[in-house]
Amino acid sequence: MSVLTDLIYAGSDAVAGLTEGLVSDAINQYGAEKTIAFPDTAYFLPTIYAATGVKVKTLGDLPACVDVLKSLISKKEDLGEALNAGLATAVGAEIIEALKYVGKEDPYADEAGIGFVPDPVIRSLGVPLVTGDIPGVAVVLGKAEDASAAADVVKDYQSKGILTFLVGDIIDQIADAGVKMGLEFRVVPLGHDVTAVTHAVTVAIRAALIFGNITPGDLPGLLAYTKERVLAFVNTFGALNEIAVSAGAGAIALGFPVIVDIDLAENQVPGALESVLDHKETVKHSLNLRGIRIKIKEIPIPVAFAAAFEGEIIRKNDMHAEFSSQKNPAFELVAMRQENEVEDHKLTLVGPDIDGEAPVGLPLGVVVEIYGAKMQADFEPVIERKLHHWLNYIEGVMHTGQRNLIHIRIHKDAYEKGLRLKDLAEALYCMVMDEFDSVVDKCQVTLYTEKDTVAQLLDTVAMPRYDARDERLNSMNDESCDTFYSCILCQSFAPSHVCIITPERLGLCGAVSWLDAKATKELTPLGPCQPVPKEGCLDEVKGVYTEVNKAVEAASQGMVQNVTLYSLMQDPMTSCGCFECICGIEPFSNGVIIVNREYKGMTPLGMSFGELASMTGGGVQTPGFMGHGRHFISSKKFISAEGGVERIVWMPKELKDAVGDKLNATAKELYGIDNFIDMIGDETITEDPEALLNFLTEKGHPVLGLAPLM
Ligand code: SF4
Ligand code: ZN
Repeated sequence: MSVLTDLIYAGSDAVAGLTEGLVSDAINQYGAEKTIAFPDTAYFLPTIYAATGVKVKTLGDLPACVDVLKSLISKKEDLGEALNAGLATAVGAEIIEALKYVGKEDPYADEAGIGFVPDPVIRSLGVPLVTGDIPGVAVVLGKAEDASAAADVVKDYQSKGILTFLVGDIIDQIADAGVKMGLEFRVVPLGHDVTAVTHAVTVAIRAALIFGNITPGDLPGLLAYTKERVLAFVNTFGALNEIAVSAGAGAIALGFPVIVDIDLAENQVPGALESVLDHKETVKHSLNLRGIRIKIKEIPIPVAFAAAFEGEIIRKNDMHAEFSSQKNPAFELVAMRQENEVEDHKLTLVGPDIDGEAPVGLPLGVVVEIYGAKMQADFEPVIERKLHHWLNYIEGVMHTGQRNLIHIRIHKDAYEKGLRLKDLAEALYCMVMDEFDSVVDKCQVTLYTEKDTVAQLLDTVAMPRYDARDERLNSMNDESCDTFYSCILCQSFAPSHVCIITPERLGLCGAVSWLDAKATKELTPLGPCQPVPKEGCLDEVKGVYTEVNKAVEAASQGMVQNVTLYSLMQDPMTSCGCFECICGIEPFSNGVIIVNREYKGMTPLGMSFGELASMTGGGVQTPGFMGHGRHFISSKKFISAEGGVERIVWMPKELKDAVGDKLNATAKELYGIDNFIDMIGDETITEDPEALLNFLTEKGHPVLGLAPLM
């Protein structure tokens, strides 16, 4: 036998033995009836479920899984067979990790790692992964000989937006090197035991179930999906024991190349298992092996600039300067200008900079002026919304809000590294030119920090512009427009999914409005958003159009033939998996409930968000369940075929608060109902369907007078 297959089999044998022992110990301790589950997932033990279709729910379900696991270890001198043994190790690792959760709420509470990654987190990664905002996923494990070289590798991934999972002692090494860690920084410590690698593996596997509509038990389909669509790879640091090698074989079976920093000499398997001894080459080689291309954004500012810094929070005590609409006039505006009004790359500061004793508090007007032969006023808000993201990408800058309600903080460290206001302008300029080059020919950025000037510009320039845009948005509806858009961005994960985007119905991810889709078409003519003429109306109420059906059929490669724009019950739009909210019918009241991704509790349907979400997705139609964006809730077109927003009987409190004003306005306008939101249940009222019905009756909720849904 080759050294490599020897090692793999030795490792999988060891894991099999360990798993078997731990399973029987656990059954002895707790009994076979004891529940076993990872937190906040609808996919049981995901690897076992996806590979075999078996839903492990109790300890008593495990011995059969251990038998399957052992049957995968053939000991044949053949790489394919040895990779199966690697899968056995993945299954064993999953069981060992799941056992940690038996009888414990959070076994990782005292660890530097987070352990299991909940379903809603994976769903939230959908959009950044399909847009390439997260260009790939790295799993980094082991213990580095040279901690600073390993830290450089991880920092390099971070700066490129790669989502990096850490397993093993390397977690402490990376933390000691001062790398910012956490989901929001895209460097995610999983756990110290090598079995914690399972928490990265199940992310890929659940992506196949959530987005890919892979049938549980379809192992070849699963392996093809992870290989082709999950752009992940593994880097190991330091010496490898047989368990790590066999876990690596599991990764290779899933299609993820493994790059080690020890010399494997002739044991290398080109494209799958390779040695890179020079750590300066690790990143480049790993990305190449997976075909991941990084759009280089070199922004000449004194701090780092990367999407990985988007979630950074700056506390009061750490801030050097602050711009807050609450305290001073502040606004940001993107405005289209004539050719002679814009001087390209002119960056101007009018007023004082942030020098001086912390905390510096100043007014701020950010004015980005654009000329472009193909520029349209409709693209102004699309670009303006990006300012929020770009400013957040700057390390040490936090930005929230938009328009005339903004809050920006600059960290003391960033100030000390030399960051000044002009650098903010530079970053904005570079990003406008980078992302909107096909409509922007020239761009200049001016920052104002004198109170009177900012206040005056806000009143005379910015507010009238915002008002005009709002008027345009309000006057835009499905009736008055003649073109819808399709979006197939999510097809890289959900191959048959198509969103149809109308002025009154945004994409289910919440990130693509009709204006965004229109701008995307202009920016990338052959890109994911294509116009669909609003023609061939077959049913106005349900929103059935022959042209829409044709577009969906073509874009879904024939998988979906008919969709309605406004119905939940008949041919509803498909869901990919990254939806912000899901609505589903509530049979007791004849209404629908809506649940947002952030809500962790129970619903009157007896299901959590994750469980509800697993009812639909992967680009299939599921009458009665549908993913959608938050903004769709207050749309006049929200399931209008079934009676519209009057059907809504329950939402989590946070969602109710967020959409309340707009939903009230819609209900008032459509049905003359005052304070409709007060008639809708939430978790502080009840999670029980019968109690909910009583509540609705007491409030005189209009759903009780509507025709049955089924
Ligand atoms: Fe995906 Fe639809 Fe959003 Fe496009 S609009 S990114 S297809 S969810
Ligand atoms: Zn999606």
